Amino acid sequence: MPDLFTLMFLLFAAAALYVLLIAAPRVQRNWMALPSAEDYAAHHPDAVGHGMPHCCRCGSDSLISEGLQGPSDFRRRMRCANCQTLLYRNEN
Ligand SMILES: [Zn+2]
Repeated sequence: MPDLFTLMFLLFAAAALYVLLIAAPRVQRNWMALPSAEDYAAHHPDAVGHGMPHCCRCGSDSLISEGLQGPSDFRRRMRCANCQTLLYRNEN
């Protein structure tokens, strides 16, 4: 029977493999599935007035810039502050 240290190591290794092989690539794929800012503007020309994009669903111009995996992540996604719709991706 394995000791407690071995069990904890195996649990940590399984969690690390899950994050590296499944969760992180899924987050990246979901981010890449969002349209770029240029694509969003091309598909919703009425939602880009005076160079400031707004929500194509509710018309709100209050957008939230979210870091994909934390506040400092350069991979950003823009979400409508009113209806919470994910609008497009951005890199800063
Ligand atoms: Zn909205």
